[in-house]
Amino acid sequence: MTIKAKHQILIVGGGTAGITVAARLLRKGYSDVAVIEPSSAHYYQPLWTLVGGGQAKASSTERPESSVMPKGATWIKNRASAVEPADNTVTCADGTTYAYDVLVVCPGIQLDWKSTEGLEDALGHDGVSSNYRFDLAPRTWDYIRSLRSGTAVFTVPSGAIKCAGAPQKIAYLASDYWRSQGVLQDIDVHLVMPGARPFGIPAIADSLDTVIADYGITLHTNSEVTMVDAASRKVGITSVGPGGTDTMLPYDVLHAVPRQSAPDWIKSSPLSTGDAAGYVEIDKHTMQHVRYPNVFSLGDAGSSPNSKTGAAIRKQAPVVVDNIDALVTGQPLRASYDGYSSCPIVTSSHAMLLAEFDYDLNLEPSFPILDPTTPHRAYWYLKKYGLPFMYWNLMLKGLA
Ligand SMILES: Cc1cc2nc3c(=O)[nH]c(=O)nc-3n(C[C@H](O)[C@H](O)[C@H](O)COP(=O)(O)OP(=O)(O)OC[C@H]3O[C@@H](n4cnc5c(N)ncnc54)[C@H](O)[C@@H]3O)c2cc1C
Repeated sequence: MTIKAKHQILIVGGGTAGITVAARLLRKGYSDVAVIEPSSAHYYQPLWTLVGGGQAKASSTERPESSVMPKGATWIKNRASAVEPADNTVTCADGTTYAYDVLVVCPGIQLDWKSTEGLEDALGHDGVSSNYRFDLAPRTWDYIRSLRSGTAVFTVPSGAIKCAGAPQKIAYLASDYWRSQGVLQDIDVHLVMPGARPFGIPAIADSLDTVIADYGITLHTNSEVTMVDAASRKVGITSVGPGGTDTMLPYDVLHAVPRQSAPDWIKSSPLSTGDAAGYVEIDKHTMQHVRYPNVFSLGDAGSSPNSKTGAAIRKQAPVVVDNIDALVTGQPLRASYDGYSSCPIVTSSHAMLLAEFDYDLNLEPSFPILDPTTPHRAYWYLKKYGLPFMYWNLMLKGLA
């Protein structure tokens, strides 16, 4: 095996986590930081919900990767395909191998479209879309705005996914739009979810129950869409818990979210937890790998049991950087992540509730003056304008 280059710190993935960590390491004085990232574009994915709801342009969520890569970082424009932590190397799809002193693994999550029968082939035509793809989010809006009557189905998959609230946010934005057009009463809206309640924190679930009832949405809890029959425009719903639904439903619009898991090359690597989801097995507080001390992970690919969001990464990144610094300088790892995540749930075109919580589901509101369990107009402005500004100008620059 020929090593093309060795870097003190090698980061796999130049998305939210990779760029934030690279920027923070450079600010801390590290000069040999390399990022393996195949994509020429960087996306602010949280706005895809508003794109699908007709409230933002897809183009506003995309910037050239070169514009977010921190000055001083080495961009390796390649796709990692294997990691050998015993040798401290990462090999890329074209066969080139890179060595490292410290590795940060953050290639994001894999969208397992094929795990729902018929879904992948149905995507993008005849009313089927998903805000989980940049190219399809505008299609979601096309389908929503052209529906005047019929049935709309919104799905939440089983297992951990990125932004667990996103599959239901679009149901609320669509219903709000149909109400504004005077057609909501002519549309049969269904929300299908595997959980027993729409949110893990009871006070927030109560609030969402009110939103769901207000729109007249039929909620199928303990249920999952497991099959899409595009030819007859029907979905198969399977019960996954007590009182769940087993039925076929017709649809005119289907917003589908796929099951998700670690990228396959991570699953088959020595870094994986070895279970079906296969994430990088890390300590949930230090973000350090449990078997390879010079490997860290954060973001959607890590095994820490937080809600997978960019908001979580904002709190994880400083912990990873401080603990890398401690490792390199021979100090004990003191920085600890408490599981903070936030779920901004847009409930209409002008209101949002902001659930912020830790591993124990304790609420951690950043703005205690606003009741975190009810939707507020101010939060909607935060989602549309404040958070994107913070992302591009502060977080990706290692300043927030
Ligand atoms: C519809 C939607 C709505 C969301 N809403 C919110 C929200 O409201 N609030 C919130 O905080 N979060 C939200 N999120 C989640 C948030 O976007 C993710 O949690 C976050 O982007 C994860 O960051 P990451 O760096 O782990 O992965 P990503 O940002 O996805 O980046 C992964 C990077 O790794 C690269 N990569 C992939 N494979 C390889 C490889 N083999 N080698 C090298 N590089 C590779 C990719 O090209 C990508 O650049 C939402 C996501 C979606 C899809």
